[in-house]
Amino acid sequence: MTETAINDIPFGRPMVGAEERAAVEQAMLSPQLVHGPRIHDFEDAFAAMLGEGAYTTAVSSCTAGLHLSYLHLGVGPGDEVIVPAETHVATAHAVEITGAKPVFVDCDESGNIDVDAIESRLTERTKAICVVHYPGLPVDVIKVNALAHPRGLAVVEDCALAVGASLDGVACGLLGDVGSFSFYPVKHMTTGEGGMVVSRDPDVIASIANLKAFGYDRSPAARSIPGVYDIARLGINYRMSEMAAAIGLVQLTRIKQFAAQRDANTAALRDALASGQGFRLLPDSDSRRKHANYCLIAVLDESLVASRNRIVLKMKSDGVGTSVYYPVPLPLSHFYCERYGHVAEDFPHASRISHGSIALPVGPHLNEEDMAIVADSFLRAVQGAS
Ligand SMILES: *Cc1c(COP(=O)(O)O)cnc(C)c1O
Repeated sequence: MTETAINDIPFGRPMVGAEERAAVEQAMLSPQLVHGPRIHDFEDAFAAMLGEGAYTTAVSSCTAGLHLSYLHLGVGPGDEVIVPAETHVATAHAVEITGAKPVFVDCDESGNIDVDAIESRLTERTKAICVVHYPGLPVDVIKVNALAHPRGLAVVEDCALAVGASLDGVACGLLGDVGSFSFYPVKHMTTGEGGMVVSRDPDVIASIANLKAFGYDRSPAARSIPGVYDIARLGINYRMSEMAAAIGLVQLTRIKQFAAQRDANTAALRDALASGQGFRLLPDSDSRRKHANYCLIAVLDESLVASRNRIVLKMKSDGVGTSVYYPVPLPLSHFYCERYGHVAEDFPHASRISHGSIALPVGPHLNEEDMAIVADSFLRAVQGAS
């Protein structure tokens, strides 16, 4: 590769093609654009992918799924929910929107919530602990359950980056009490916008399926007199459409191949960066944890933190897309800092990752040859900044 090579390596790209287009067209030609058969097929197929004992209900986004989970748990004003500091804003907003308070806990060196730091943040107002498998590396939810369950607290898994991740052979989403996946375009699979709430407990899923459809006392299929129903409780409309479910069904037939390419790309990129200087890579899969390899995050050495954006722009000029997960430690974001008065000293690890890391692309739109280009661009940009 020459200095002037123009590459086209986007950080992410939705993997939708002719099959998805045909499936959407079929759905549009059917008489039911919601409440139809594709939703149930998609829910069943996703449950089958997760494994034995999974129950599922499709929703309009991961954020909607998290919000529904808290509504189901009765979380509201006066309550607190533990959330990680290094995450997408949705993780905390889903708590805040109920009127409860998100209580942020810093991450450890892996980027995941520091499980050992959770206990000291529990109060009599704590109702739940939310974990995020960041960026696809399973949190030790077994340890979190041991902390939560004796105290009567629920464990909520934000699985937005965790399709395919597992701990001790159990799929993320089935480790805690309820989990929520994302089908946003550049995540592991897409439905345009969409999400899936999952649990081992069928009652949890029945309750959330009801909450996502206004809290009707009976579903359209269960109405003996068409159009006649009552309202059992407060709910909202967070349903998924038949068109979205049609896309999701096709994506599930391709997900194994997507995952294999992600894993191969990640291995190739880790290999190519193994002897690089000036950064460390966040942890890989190990004997207990299967990483979903959403991206590969390089954390720059302290001396290079101030050059992070320059390195990103240099890679951009090489035609290599990168991202930052996540660009601000959430408790220190404008909204949450102003609201709760957090200080940076309480979130050293999250601050380090937010300000000093670069997320490198490994998605299934790329192959191992692309990884050589990504590695070369990154190593040269880091070297140039050193
Ligand atoms: C993307 C993301 C979300 C939001 O997912 P949507 O489907 O867009 O609502 C939530 N949590 C995490 C960790 C994410 O990365």
